[in-house]
Amino acid sequence: MQPKENFPLRGTLKCWCGSHMTAAISKNRKNEYVYYWCLEHRRLNLKGAELHDKMENLLDILSFSAEQLAYIHKECHTLLKEATKEAGKIAASRLGQVKEVDAKLDNLEERLIESVIDSATYKKWRDKLLQQKALLENDLNKIRRNDLDFKWNKLQAILPKMTSLKDIYLMSTPVVWQKLLRTVFEGNLTYLEGRFRTPKVHPGLRPNILIAKQKGLLETEKPLTDFSEISRCTECTDYFEHLERFCMILEPIIQDLRSKGFI
Ligand SMILES: [Zn+2]
Repeated sequence: MQPKENFPLRGTLKCWCGSHMTAAISKNRKNEYVYYWCLEHRRLNLKGAELHDKMENLLDILSFSAEQLAYIHKECHTLLKEATKEAGKIAASRLGQVKEVDAKLDNLEERLIESVIDSATYKKWRDKLLQQKALLENDLNKIRRNDLDFKWNKLQAILPKMTSLKDIYLMSTPVVWQKLLRTVFEGNLTYLEGRFRTPKVHPGLRPNILIAKQKGLLETEKPLTDFSEISRCTECTDYFEHLERFCMILEPIIQDLRSKGFI
């Protein structure tokens, strides 16, 4: 992982004793390296480079299903539509005004041809109308930078790149990132004997957990077949059963997109 910040796991990673691990940078003559440690158990030093590397692999495995991605797209489009409703209305009204000016220009030209007005009058009015039109078009261009099509195009350029938690990590702000990690690992991420451990993983990402386990990156305390904590859940891991909870993962992502002006 190429951390945007030095300690991407600070605030999420806990010691086996339950305390949050703190982090520091240690320097020798040649290099500096990050390590995580527990205030209560100072002898437990975890190497940042190793943890960051494994977390990157784990996050890459925690990818969204095609249905989840489709849902994210749909949700973003709905939110964008709502957010740009006003801009759309104003743009439509400006466009109407531009058309009115165009009609006046046509009319003016006809009057010149029919010799109702002389060329000096024609030029005077034409310049005035063209000036009006330029102002309206300028305004329209400004509004269009906030309208649905423009923003949706911008958003569609980044949405396909957001297929796994790793992609989200690389794009999001540290605050959003921390919130997302705590949601996914339900606030109980530890690291022991070379792998991350958590009592359970957010059900929205459960289909990938088996792969993460097989690769030795993650251990969950509860067996994956234990669906008892969600009463409505059947053995089918279809995400629609967990839509409500999936939205918890989605929320910080949407928040981040919004803060960056995409929505
Ligand atoms: Zn401890």
